Amino acid sequence: MPLAPYASDPARSRGRRHPQPPAPTRSEYQRDRDRIVHSTAFRRLVYKTQVFLNHEGDLYRTRLTHSLEVAQLGRSVARTLGLDEDLVEAIALAHDLGHTPFGHAGQDALNEALRDHGGFEHNLQSLRVVDQLEQRYPDYDGLNLTFETREGVLKHCSPANARRLEALEPGGVARRFIESTQPSLEAQLTNLADEIAYNAHDIDDGVRSGLLSIEQVCAVPLFARFHDAALAEHPRLAGRRLLFEAIRRMLTQQIYDVIDATRARLDRYAPQSVEDVRLAPPLLCFSDAMRDESRQLKSFLMRHLYRHPRVMQSMSRAQDVVHALVAAYLDRPSEMPPDFAQRPDLHRAVADYIAGMTDRFALREHARLTGAPAFDSPL
Ligand code: MG
Repeated sequence: MPLAPYASDPARSRGRRHPQPPAPTRSEYQRDRDRIVHSTAFRRLVYKTQVFLNHEGDLYRTRLTHSLEVAQLGRSVARTLGLDEDLVEAIALAHDLGHTPFGHAGQDALNEALRDHGGFEHNLQSLRVVDQLEQRYPDYDGLNLTFETREGVLKHCSPANARRLEALEPGGVARRFIESTQPSLEAQLTNLADEIAYNAHDIDDGVRSGLLSIEQVCAVPLFARFHDAALAEHPRLAGRRLLFEAIRRMLTQQIYDVIDATRARLDRYAPQSVEDVRLAPPLLCFSDAMRDESRQLKSFLMRHLYRHPRVMQSMSRAQDVVHALVAAYLDRPSEMPPDFAQRPDLHRAVADYIAGMTDRFALREHARLTGAPAFDSPL
């Protein structure tokens, strides 16, 4: 399908911070995607927690499989709406590169530890990874990605951080948070695909873990509808196959809903260019009904899974590990590799170093520096 006029055309990219001639065989966004896949930070996603700690089981989502699912969902919507699939894929594969070990527990601990030193925010960190922390090219730090991929990676930004970034890069990726304009449709899509992906896969992982039962999830109307429809068609379906079938139907319906609701908005606002998209209200969306149902599912997962005592217990241990690592490196910077230890901004260097760790590397470092195992049966 040809690109729609409101899509991000790679031939009209705002370009890279360090200008480079176009690649002969790839579009600018394909090139971004390839740079991300070959980065060190991308490989680390294999061993980073999504919800369940990496050592708790081999079949739970990790940041890597989560990112692949976001890319899959996003690309299928992009294809149908005439958006640029490669840009969606690039943003999806990069969107979680800044996540700390141990998921949100790690981020909260780092943010607290850096309270007086600028704090820590994983979206901003994803941008730092692709702009600075990856070091693999001779002429510049970072991956030198296009404006459009970087814009999609920075999906949230506080006003204070936006002003700071804007001062460093006037008219850059933070400008929209100051002007309250929208990013490209590809960025809007990847953001929604992220939410669709984790709502669905966290039901699956929650049931796999035994912390949720299928009956319990049926309290969520959105899930119950597809669960009941699957059972009506296959009365003997049970257990994991029933769960998979219900989730599959739910995902399909959510994708169709996004496509229909977005088409209606595109008809209404008739954007003729990416510039029109940026100035319009958010155009990529659920219908009102699906947005409400999706919120119900999200708050169910918050109450019954993310705040489950067993998850909270793991997360609290994980926070202790991160706090202990921060204290150890601040006290003895030379325990970090020289390119971190010798930086003048020690707090930020410690945050960058810890944020880059996989769960298991963080546990090994914790054991090495404190002599105490952090979990009963790690690794
Ligand atoms: Mg995500």
